[in-house]
Amino acid sequence: MNNVNLSNVSRRRFIAAAGFGAATAVFAPHLLFAQESGIVPTMINEAARAKIEVHPLRRNISVLEGSGGNIAVLTGKSGKLLIDSGFTVSRARIAAALDDLSSDPVVRLINTHWHIDHTDGNAWVHSAGATITAHENTKKRLSTTTRVEGWSYTFPPAPAGAIPTTVFDEEHHVHHNDTRIALRYYGPAHTDSDISVLFEEADIIHVGDTWWNGFYPFIDYSTGGSIDGMIRATGRNLTVVTDKTIVLPGHGPVGNKAGTTWPS
Ligand SMILES: [Zn+2]
Ligand SMILES: [Zn+2]
Repeated sequence: MNNVNLSNVSRRRFIAAAGFGAATAVFAPHLLFAQESGIVPTMINEAARAKIEVHPLRRNISVLEGSGGNIAVLTGKSGKLLIDSGFTVSRARIAAALDDLSSDPVVRLINTHWHIDHTDGNAWVHSAGATITAHENTKKRLSTTTRVEGWSYTFPPAPAGAIPTTVFDEEHHVHHNDTRIALRYYGPAHTDSDISVLFEEADIIHVGDTWWNGFYPFIDYSTGGSIDGMIRATGRNLTVVTDKTIVLPGHGPVGNKAGTTWPS
């Protein structure tokens, strides 16, 4: 995947791949027409067909791949904590994957940023019993009509149950299932709502859409993203991770500081 030469593929085709989690998807013939049929509906259709893959990482933390952005899951006696909620169309398969991990109920959800491929499932995860924590701009974007020019799509306000109820500005700490979790705002990067989520003991960090493993990221200029912000975020990611850190990208396979897949 890292060897794919993307230099002569148009930016719009990168955008068309947003949410599929695989650079090879860029070249799948039926996806080359994603922009004609609408990027957001295409992402949702893709999620509706996708299998949910579960990969154990370290300690009691796993990743679910296949529905929008990568979903991290912390299990334990206090209930499951999720990072991001994927697309609603994947609800049955995500719920089944969560049940396979453990019988603990879902009690907490953290959003890495406001985009639909990371928050569409918020409402059902909340109805299942989870409180939602995010950066204050995630709440702001989900609470109102928001257009993403890069996707030619205008999102209506999210339902009340999908809106984060705990928000923060720069930094927030959570202690859950004997695990310390540090949430830190990037400043404007991929959007103006991006945070990193670090599981301290396990040394696993979810960097949201500030990193797409194996292919060029989408930058959402409509809601505060910029190339300079993405470079700053990447610089911070490289500073805070070590060679041992497991790095969860927003899209693409689980990786590490070298930018390769984990385990390598
Ligand atoms: Zn995403
Ligand atoms: Zn995003």
